Amino acid sequence: MAKVKYYYDADTLSYRKIDVKKSEYYKKTVFGVLAVLLIAFIGFIIFSQFLMSPNERAINRENENLQLNLDLFSKRIAESSAILNQLQERDNNIYRMYFEANPIPNEQRKAGFGGVNRYKSLDGYDNSKMIKQLTKDIDILSKQLVIQSKSLDEIVILAKEKEKMLASIPAILPVKLVDLTRMASGYKWRMHPILKIRKFHKGMDFTAPTGTPIYASGNGKVIRSSRSATYGRVVYIDHGYGYTTIYAHMSKIKAKRGQNVKRGDLIGYVGNTGRSVSAHLHYEVRKNGKALNPINFYYGDLTPAQFAAMQKASEEEGQSYD
Ligand SMILES: [Zn+2]
Repeated sequence: MAKVKYYYDADTLSYRKIDVKKSEYYKKTVFGVLAVLLIAFIGFIIFSQFLMSPNERAINRENENLQLNLDLFSKRIAESSAILNQLQERDNNIYRMYFEANPIPNEQRKAGFGGVNRYKSLDGYDNSKMIKQLTKDIDILSKQLVIQSKSLDEIVILAKEKEKMLASIPAILPVKLVDLTRMASGYKWRMHPILKIRKFHKGMDFTAPTGTPIYASGNGKVIRSSRSATYGRVVYIDHGYGYTTIYAHMSKIKAKRGQNVKRGDLIGYVGNTGRSVSAHLHYEVRKNGKALNPINFYYGDLTPAQFAAMQKASEEEGQSYD
């Protein structure tokens, strides 16, 4: 309800009504309300700078926690990465080298993932850069772990192969040291006892009584078990990897052709068959058909002192039997 205002007119000596326009009055009212609202709003903004609602406080706390966890997480990744690096070094420089496998180059181990858009979904957040870096680090770590794991699988296979090879290559005396009546006669030039000419002796002679057991010096397959004019009753074992061993002048053969034997298996007995002057075992080690000095193939059996004694005896000029 608008108030009616008057003024005193000196000319007429009477009070007259002031004519206030309605629109002006409304304008004033609206301005007034707006002013109050504006002041209230500014007041609220200023006030809210100093005071946070409990909800905001909770969110802020949570954000701080998350940031802390991210930092911690980042540190843990760096630590894991350092441990993995050590393992990779060992893998390349010890394990792979020992088993004669090529080292895996670092560029291959630590390569990231191609494609610019791989981490695009992580864009547009306050800490996108950090999250992207973390995701990238985890991806590289996972990839390194896969490569390392495959490398170890390969080493297990190589180790098994090496184990098989070590079990196959001749490594023990074919006659027990205690059974020998005389140290072996070696791989050397000597006067042949029957032919009476200088001839190279391609094996070692082990003197032992007839019937003394003879053992396979490595795992392999019997490829010959027969009689020959020179070698008498003889056994040939193929060990794989190019190695063959020959056991000659046996009194009795135990191993059959085609039979798989293990190192230390009984294959026959010492005798004096073929071109031989007395009971002994003539033993040969061949690699790709070429006779090698058997003295180098007893490492599984002899102590260094025994080895030295055997080597000395085998080099001495002495009686040989075939
Ligand atoms: Zn011989």
